[in-house]
Amino acid sequence: MKFIYRRIVLKISGEVIKSFNNNQFSTCIIRDIIQDIQYLVKHGIQISIVIGGGNLFRGATLSKFGINRVTADYIGMLSTVINGLFLKELFNKVNISSCLMSSLCINSICQPYNLDQALEHLSNSVVMIFCGGIGQPCFTTDSVACLKAIETRSEIIIKGTKVNGIYSKDPEYNQDSILYHQLNYNDVLRYEFKVMDLTAFILARDYKIPIYIFNIGHNRALRRILRGCNEGTIINDSMKDIS
Ligand code: UDP
Repeated sequence: MKFIYRRIVLKISGEVIKSFNNNQFSTCIIRDIIQDIQYLVKHGIQISIVIGGGNLFRGATLSKFGINRVTADYIGMLSTVINGLFLKELFNKVNISSCLMSSLCINSICQPYNLDQALEHLSNSVVMIFCGGIGQPCFTTDSVACLKAIETRSEIIIKGTKVNGIYSKDPEYNQDSILYHQLNYNDVLRYEFKVMDLTAFILARDYKIPIYIFNIGHNRALRRILRGCNEGTIINDSMKDIS
């Protein structure tokens, strides 16, 4: 079986583990992606997952209720740890070897972040789950995904969302909107397409790490992306311009 990437970072937002009826935890979407991960690990793909916390708490939202922004961000980071534990438990149930590392110090429930150990785990087919953000306020887990991709020398950041990719216009209101299969970093900036937060995006651009946006609810989408199928939108430094 041919795959076009060998080492990837998969960013899973907290929203993805929220159910359709707004329960904070649900396995309905994540179950399919876990099957894909199991399949890919069996075929030698090395996978790091960066887990978000938006199904529980986001710093920006909490601060609107009068909570100090720094404290609010720590609450957000703790949410990613909770999601990491949830994800690890789902992996355990289907016998996928995984390791949960946190950049926040919570050593009794997950290992402290250590790059050498993470690289060793990846080369031994252990799925890495990174939680606790970067351990500092004022960032999002999109930035964590970019940093982990740089640190682990991963070939691509694959961001699972609830949309199919990047459209020319909002597809919900514009029937003539086009789904772009490929964009370059500059197009994303010029047309202000929402891919990830700007700090994270600039980091990916500067280190020339491609970003793939896809609909995580599409069955077996992850394995199709790794086989090179057109599944969503890839952003890279290709010279193709949409203007
Ligand atoms: N966060 C932070 N520093 C980090 C990563 C995350 O302060 O390095 C906080 C921030 O408040 C953020 C929350 O954790 O809103 C949850 O992360 P994120 O919003 O990225 O989750 P997602 O939207 O991906 O579910």
